[in-house]
Amino acid sequence: MTISFNDFNISKEIIDAIGEMGFEEPSPIQAGAIPLVLQGIDVIGQAQTGTGKTAAFGIPILERIDSKSKNVQAMILCPTRELSIQVAEEISKLGKFLKGVKVVPIYGGQPIERQIRALKQGTQIVVGTPGRIIDHIKRKTLKTDNIKIFVLDEADEMFDMGFREDIEMIIGRLPEEKQMTFFSATMAKEIMNFAKTYQSEPEIIRVVKKEMTVPKVDQYYFDLDPHMKTEILARVLDIYNPNLTIVFCNTKRMVDELTSKLKDRGYLAEALHGDLKQNQRDFVMNKFRKLSTDILVATDVAARGIDVDEVDMVVNYDMPQDDEYYVHRIGRTARAGREGTAISFVSGKEYYKLRDIQKYTKSIIARKEIPTLGDIRKNESTKLLNILTENINKEENKKYEPIINVLLEENYNPIDIASVCISLYMNEKGVGNHEELDYIDNDKKRPVRKQRQARPKERFKKGKWKRVFINIGRIDGVSERHILSAILQNNKLHKNDVGSIDIYDKYSFVDINAKRTNEVVKDLNKIRIRGRKIKSEIAKSSSKSGRRK
Ligand code: AMP
Repeated sequence: MTISFNDFNISKEIIDAIGEMGFEEPSPIQAGAIPLVLQGIDVIGQAQTGTGKTAAFGIPILERIDSKSKNVQAMILCPTRELSIQVAEEISKLGKFLKGVKVVPIYGGQPIERQIRALKQGTQIVVGTPGRIIDHIKRKTLKTDNIKIFVLDEADEMFDMGFREDIEMIIGRLPEEKQMTFFSATMAKEIMNFAKTYQSEPEIIRVVKKEMTVPKVDQYYFDLDPHMKTEILARVLDIYNPNLTIVFCNTKRMVDELTSKLKDRGYLAEALHGDLKQNQRDFVMNKFRKLSTDILVATDVAARGIDVDEVDMVVNYDMPQDDEYYVHRIGRTARAGREGTAISFVSGKEYYKLRDIQKYTKSIIARKEIPTLGDIRKNESTKLLNILTENINKEENKKYEPIINVLLEENYNPIDIASVCISLYMNEKGVGNHEELDYIDNDKKRPVRKQRQARPKERFKKGKWKRVFINIGRIDGVSERHILSAILQNNKLHKNDVGSIDIYDKYSFVDINAKRTNEVVKDLNKIRIRGRKIKSEIAKSSSKSGRRK
């Protein structure tokens, strides 16, 4: 059974802050540590950055301090300035709705006067590096006599950095009665001995991992800057063109943010997380199953148990907080004997998580170079090459031979003739300027999904389609995805109701299932695409016959 934050005995203000931060359920270290730390029990937790350990001690600290008193009641020691700031920020966010709570980070490198002023104003929680904390204790600008909770964060790293003596000196200044909690990525002997000396009957929390069968999936990762994640995701989607993709984020908030960013870029993405009501979830899942949305952005909780065969790619937009989550995530692809790919976005300290996951899953996650814009162009070339080779021997092409012969007789070069045909074709499809098409690397050639443009035109003959005119085109920066996503905002519509999309400089045409054309035109006239109000109507050429010339 899964635990919820509501199962802990914590105040509504903290629950509200957790909700605002978008945490869906406690991470394993939180589920283990929070109840114990809340009871005042000494704890050693085995956890590293990225597992949610800050909230594991931060939530109980906020719950246990007296916000009416301005005395320092909790001290957290961290190995670095960055971590001190990060931890202080995270606890401040968790305590956002608690009146009067103050958290002050204290570290070397910042003018000491500023810290002295902050401490003077009264604070219940200090987070800092050992050297500067000692400095304040000596100056008597930091009083330790009311501290009742002490946390040693990243204990193993602190010892490696030679902080042991400083830590002992600080502990020596704390009151006799206090709760001692240590967090460390490893349970090295030195840590355990230290715990024996300074803790009383500590409870050890190791997040126990189940043996899991790791699905056979191609796994690799990109090492990237966090601010590049959306751009790289877009490139990956464009290059691999997967049928269905699940993108995993760690919080509900991130899921919502990313979904709207993807929609802005014209992708058919939907969010799935625990805040959705059952009928909303069903609705999103239906769209995904029917392929009228092809990207699902989800939290771990929401995606549990999703069983859709066609998911061919899983993206870890955030690295999971637990190794087991990783296995659950990648198991959403490669179902029913199909192939699947799992791509992880790794930045900064997430690399350590990646290392742990590889150890746990006993599999290798290979590093890949981030796809460049040049790769996208190469991919466009590959698609074009596929289309050309698929069609080159078609009998129906013979009817163009007389024209080609005329050109050849007039001494035009065959390469020039072919080039102009490609250029006209590309313009017709609105694929853009291909002056810079890279040469094709045949090793990278991969089968591409049938292109939307390649929809069978015969359907026109049955009068199934009607053309719809839209007064927005290439110079407005629209792409096929923008138009498709705008049309599919009408939720009753299926992706198969939309046929070819042809984008010209100032306008575009879309083929729509004839039965749905009126409502599509009506809907389009109410919305904006790329910020521009749309005018749409049934194209004159198709209004009588439903055919395209
Ligand atoms: P930490 O391990 O404390 O450095 O946390 C790593 C990241 O996970 C931080 O950005 C936290 O805000 C986030 N986080 C902590 N707990 C949870 C949770 N239960 N669900 C999702 N994200 C969390």
